[in-house]
Amino acid sequence: MGSDCVFCKIVDGRIPAKRIAEDELYLCFADLNAQAPTHVLLVPKQHIASLAEIAPEQTELLGYLMAKAAEVAREAGLAKGYRVVINTGVDGGQTVDHLHLHLLGGRAMHWPPG
Ligand code: 5GP
Ligand code: ZN
Repeated sequence: MGSDCVFCKIVDGRIPAKRIAEDELYLCFADLNAQAPTHVLLVPKQHIASLAEIAPEQTELLGYLMAKAAEVAREAGLAKGYRVVINTGVDGGQTVDHLHLHLLGGRAMHWPPG
């Protein structure tokens, strides 16, 4: 789990990443394969596999991550808007099994997503 997880490795510095913001609960870093002018990921420092694995006592942490996404968006100057996405499971397109919020902005988004 944690020791093999790419995002756990980024959290503890074993894999380098462009770190944007962090505190004791979360890390925000640039996505390696940006899909928009601003594309960052927010992850809890604690390993949680996906949104589907959220325990009742972790709902506050989820809200915290959402609020931090809005804060990072503000600091990135995304005044015209942005999108926050949590891909979950195989059909959701999740490729890294450590809960992460995508924050995308800097261009108009399409709807529906693919
Ligand atoms: P998912 O498809 O699971 O929702 O998103 C995983 C995201 O993590 C992808 O957008 C991918 O580009 C990004 N990613 C995967 N490995 C790395 C990495 O080692 N470093 C960084 N910065 N991003 C990564
Ligand atoms: Zn992890």
